[in-house]
Amino acid sequence: MVKKADNILNGIAAAPGIAIAKAHLYLKEIYEINGDPITDVDEAIESLNAALEKSKKELGKVFSLAYDKLGEKRAAIFEAQIMILDDPVLIDNISKRIKKEKKQPEYIVNDEISKYQELMNSSKEPYMKERSHDIEDIKNRIIRNLKKKKLQSRIKEDVIIVSENITPADTVLFSRVNALGYVTNFGGLTSHAAIVARSLNIPAVVGVHDSTNKIKDGDTLIVDGFHGEIIVNPDAKQLIFYNKKIKKLTEYDTELAKLKDKPAVTLDGREIIIQGNLDLIDELGLTIQNGARGLGLVRTEQLFQEFDGFPDEEEQYKYYKELSEKVYPESITIRAFDIGGDKVLPFDVKEPNPFLGWRGIRFLLDNKKLFVSQIRAILRASVNKNIKFLIPMITSMKEIRTFKSIIEDCKNDLLKNDIAFDNDMKIGIMIEVPSAAVLAGEFAEEVDFLSIGTNDLIQYLLAVDRGNDIVSESYQEFHPAVVRTISHIIIHGKNAGAEVSLCGEMAADILAVPLLVGLGLDSISVSASAIPYAKKIIRGILYSEVKEIAEKCLKMKTENEISLLLKSFLETHLKTESQNLF
Ligand code: PEP
Ligand code: MG
Repeated sequence: MVKKADNILNGIAAAPGIAIAKAHLYLKEIYEINGDPITDVDEAIESLNAALEKSKKELGKVFSLAYDKLGEKRAAIFEAQIMILDDPVLIDNISKRIKKEKKQPEYIVNDEISKYQELMNSSKEPYMKERSHDIEDIKNRIIRNLKKKKLQSRIKEDVIIVSENITPADTVLFSRVNALGYVTNFGGLTSHAAIVARSLNIPAVVGVHDSTNKIKDGDTLIVDGFHGEIIVNPDAKQLIFYNKKIKKLTEYDTELAKLKDKPAVTLDGREIIIQGNLDLIDELGLTIQNGARGLGLVRTEQLFQEFDGFPDEEEQYKYYKELSEKVYPESITIRAFDIGGDKVLPFDVKEPNPFLGWRGIRFLLDNKKLFVSQIRAILRASVNKNIKFLIPMITSMKEIRTFKSIIEDCKNDLLKNDIAFDNDMKIGIMIEVPSAAVLAGEFAEEVDFLSIGTNDLIQYLLAVDRGNDIVSESYQEFHPAVVRTISHIIIHGKNAGAEVSLCGEMAADILAVPLLVGLGLDSISVSASAIPYAKKIIRGILYSEVKEIAEKCLKMKTENEISLLLKSFLETHLKTESQNLF
């Protein structure tokens, strides 16, 4: 237990808000497997069957992807893994042992499959030895699926999740089981887990080194997602202070809620459209409640979690259609699967540099069947004419022309079959890689709109991993190169006749909002929880003034100068009631 005198841990403020609850340690990589007795054998058998089913489904998807990408020979490994899952002798043995010994299923699975493994390992045949690794994979997959199932049912009360690292999928999973906050040892501000936390309105502090050693299960924690602080086992004074703060924040939120139906218009009449970023359908309520003018970025990668694998065309169609109807008459911008990077790669490929690897459009063009299923689903869902389609990670003209011709083929196919769709559906690209930023004007001539993805743009422009807390100080949204690049994209994109928006987390930073408006953006898209704050700022500034501020920033040579100017602008021009809150 951490002593009261030094009970504050520091990290990166990744999602705003304050939460007070007991710690729940989630030590994910080390699966604690014990032979603890179980009371409900039927439940254990049911869990086993569900975990086997889920593992089979996962491997099925991996197999078909591997088949397309790597060819039949290498894909056979996964087919062999599926066959093991179907081996009646093995499964029967495991079931029988659970019934007889009444022990945790993961214990029996571990024990039984390890026997196979040892047998193979002791073989003189190198091929058999090699296969023992595959068996290890299967064993871990089943155990992981068994554990995940338990994870959900185990958390009964409100908790703060403390973990080494957390994936976007975990963040979603936990948000559904009473997680009030997140604390992680690793991670950066724009890691996807942080983004998901922000969009679900769950305070998070990441990059708190050693938090999993310093915090014990059951400790009371205060997560201060504004300042990146964790207070472990707070004393009475600290509790009173933070409870007061929570009360004030709630009052301020009530104030902001009054702006819901008011436009985000500057004091001199320039309107900025604020849309919402959406990772999960769960967030839609909050996004609408906070007054979003439609959805500027629907990330579809999370569908893999929702559907336990690749959703097929029909499943996707229903999802997109539902979203489009719920948001109508406002528009929704659905982004093609941005798989890879720190997001789910439903495929057992280890890449040395995932962020520079098989990601976004590269993955989609290599997995055409998957891409086509998404395009068809989106087109079919577009009949209300309020869907736009956005493509991630574009780096070259060739990619743009290739995906456009795939979309054309899909349209022709639908036409031939008399299936309705919006023939004028707007197509846009993410500008999040330096090459695309440089060629923004040329690329804009090919599409209807550009969406600036600062989360990646900053990482690629400054060569700093967005999810790595060690280098988080170098991840600077106000680096002069970033500000000038954004300006370049806006000017050249607009000159070419495209709409230009920005959907990176930078737009959720209250310091950045005046700058972005001043640089000439007409719309921004942010996490649901950030919408009221951005609106409040915009309604308090003069466009003519922030334009001058932006011009000054464009001439500055250091990050420090720019952020100081923006801070002093906010302090002197926006005397809002929020000042002492954050
Ligand atoms: C971005 O890169 O800014 C962006 C919005 O996309 P994502 O965070 O999903 O990579
Ligand atoms: Mg991106």
